[in-house]
Order: sequence, then structure tokens, then C-alpha cells
Amino acid sequence: MTAETVLYEGKAKKILATDSPEYIIQYFKDDATAFNAEKRAVIPGKGIVNNQISARVFSVLAEAGIPTHFVRTVSEREMMAKRVSIIPVEVVIRNRATGSLVARLGLEEGQVLNPPLIELFYKNDALGDPLITEDHIRLLKLADDAQIAEMKRLAQRVNAVLLPFFESRGLLLVDLKLEFGIANGQIVVADEISPDTCRLWDLQSGERLDKDRFRHDLGRVEEAYREVWRRVCA
Ligand code: 5GP
Repeated sequence: MTAETVLYEGKAKKILATDSPEYIIQYFKDDATAFNAEKRAVIPGKGIVNNQISARVFSVLAEAGIPTHFVRTVSEREMMAKRVSIIPVEVVIRNRATGSLVARLGLEEGQVLNPPLIELFYKNDALGDPLITEDHIRLLKLADDAQIAEMKRLAQRVNAVLLPFFESRGLLLVDLKLEFGIANGQIVVADEISPDTCRLWDLQSGERLDKDRFRHDLGRVEEAYREVWRRVCA
């Protein structure tokens, strides 16, 4: 299958058509944005590393029986995935308090969240991806009750599988953002799972090894992505 038309171009990826209507190619760019694209940069090699980390993580989820859109890696920067209709809800699951949760509720940075906390956001750049309730999701008809329940159930399973996966590689999975798609009536984990979409802290030192290095100008951004790649893929 050869990639042809660009179906969609996002901030960090392009979605390309294949010669089959059932499959697309996700092309991972080196572009990075933060704070609703107010901050922009190129992180050399990020696309390669995120493609490979995502592929490995999706394979681990598939082995655990969790449905994902991932089919196979096609090149350094490209993976083939099932074509899905993306549900415009970002599901965030948190094991520790940080980021927007601390800013919103004033919790202590790093506080353990047990059980893990699930939050729902409206995937809408024009509105700045606001936090929404299940009633908002019903009002906006973004998903029905069964789909909301299934996304939350899958998010808990993904977290339960990935916590020990990363821990055995010396990484604390602090939180992650999931997007779901519908293919043939089934809800599957879509998009990517990488240091762009998860927070990962070194288990020993607590050092941040994710996009927060870019967001907050912590330096050594490329090195952090590469270190996650080394621990997950090498
Ligand atoms: P927070 O709500 O604290 O900003 O983010 C929670 C988690 O979800 C973090 O791992 C963060 O990287 C991820 N996340 C939330 N919104 C977005 C988004 O719009 N884009 C990306 N790449 N990650 C997000």
C-alpha cells in the first residue's frame, strides 16, 4: 500500500490515505506545540521516536486484549492504522496530581491518586480543549452513554497495563491522554501514546522525561524523548 493524499494535518501528525478505504498512515512530525499552539518548536527526531514508542505501546495493549487502531509500522516515521471516526473527547487518566489538575484544584504536586482519576475534555482547539462533564457530552452529542462508559473502562484497562510496563523500565506513568475512534461499531484506542501524550517521570530521580520539558523550558528535550525510546524500544 502506498501513501498518497493527506486526509488531515494536525499539530504533530499527518494522516495520509492508503489505497484501501479501511486503513490510513499516521506520519509523525517533529513539530511540537503547547498551550493551545501558542508555543511552537521543532524537536529534531521526535517524530521517529514517538512513532516507535507508540507502536510498541499499542502492541503491548493488543497483547493484553485491548483494541487499538494500530496495524503495523511502515517506516521510521509512519504507522499504518485502521481508519476510524475519532470521538472528539480526550480522556485523561491520572495516577499523580500535576499539570492542569493542580492548577484547577490546588492539589499538592505529585499527590498519589488512588483510584486513578479520569477526566474528560472536549477536543476542540477553538475552545482550548475545555474540561467537560458527561452531561455536556450528551448535550453536544459527542458520544452516547454506552460509548462514554466504554471509553472510561478502556482508559482504566490501558492505565492498568501501562503502569507496570513503564515501571519495569524505570518510569512512573504519571498521567496519559487517550483518544478513541470507532471502526465497524467498535471503540478502539486511537491517535498515539508517547511522551507527547503521557507524563513519564524517572522512578529514581523524579526527572521529567516527557513534553513538560518543552512546555516549561526544562532543557534537554530531545534527550528525554530519546531516553524513553531507549527504555521502551531498544
Ligand atoms: P493536563 O490536563 O495536566 O495538561 O494534561 C494531562 C495529560 O494529558 C498529560 O499527559 C498531557 O500530556 C496530556 N494532554 C492533555 N491535553 C493534551 C493535548 O491537547 N495534547 C497532547 N499532546 N497531550 C495532552
